[in-house]
Amino acid sequence: MSAEIIDGKAIAEEVRREVAAEVAEWVAAGHDAPGLATVLVGEDPASAVYVGGKQKATHEVGMQGFDHRLAADTPQADVETLLAELNADPRVSGILLQLPTPGHIDGNGLTGLIDPGKDVDGLTPVSAGLLAKGRPGLRPCTPAGCMELLDRHDVELEGAEAVVVGRSDLVGKPVAQMLLARNATVTVCHSRTRDLPAVCRRADVLVAAVGRPRMVQGDWVKPGATVLDVGINRTDDGLVGDVDFDAVKDKAAAITPVPGGVGPMTIAMLLVNTLKAARLQQAAPGVPA
Ligand code: NAP
Repeated sequence: MSAEIIDGKAIAEEVRREVAAEVAEWVAAGHDAPGLATVLVGEDPASAVYVGGKQKATHEVGMQGFDHRLAADTPQADVETLLAELNADPRVSGILLQLPTPGHIDGNGLTGLIDPGKDVDGLTPVSAGLLAKGRPGLRPCTPAGCMELLDRHDVELEGAEAVVVGRSDLVGKPVAQMLLARNATVTVCHSRTRDLPAVCRRADVLVAAVGRPRMVQGDWVKPGATVLDVGINRTDDGLVGDVDFDAVKDKAAAITPVPGGVGPMTIAMLLVNTLKAARLQQAAPGVPA
């Protein structure tokens, strides 16, 4: 058996086209185009590429982009002031503080200052709390992208055994909570999990978000499982995931490749969140999502 390849690039393009159409309708109905403000502190080249990609995608779907780039030695207080201005600016529907920030700046603390109604990265404590309580809110983009891939491939989640490897605030925990909200039976694994291969073999849906190249082996996967590989690892062989794709593709029913699987979904879901935030602000300004 050879697995169906879950084409995240194609699905992300589809999502972006849908967002563009909805933005056009929103504007035609007399609203301002939704606006995404990105804040980058410092000159980290990878972060600059990510932010550039997010701004480009924002313009492509007809939204406004506000691209704030601050010098690496910007004092924390200045970033706080900028976030307060963006929170108050009605043109700004969503705010994203690019992490990591330089050492003298408390990136997590700053994230917590973003108005939860504009938290399009879904990383503030309020957004995390809403997700944990199963209440509506803005969800982190990469986990939301995972769910979109599963849904667009009609993967049955109700009652399914889902195993998530990784428990970060960015990916592992939120994707586990989203799977739980869809009535999967969820196991979350981490660096102290005993007999990880045996736990993974239980999974109907296996999500790897670890950051270790090709860690998940062919014999860790139950025949017929759906495997989402969130990992992005730069190696001498180029970009590889957390899953040994060549070994797993003959066991799984469906699998995401790296690159071109989960990765492209993150920006697509950021656009979805920005439109959602604009709608929520229109419906009830000042009220968290
Ligand atoms: P992270 O914060 O470093 O978390 C890694 C998790 O993996 C931790 O929970 C850690 O366990 C667990 N882990 C580490 N070694 C392990 C082992 N040997 N066995 C079992 N679990 C182990 O990473 P992250 O931010 O979640 O990112 C994970 C991967 O996804 C990275 O490759 C990253 O580049 C990628 N990523 C991709 C996207 C995207 O596609 N757009 C977005 C975000 C992240 P402990 O908690 O016990 O330390």
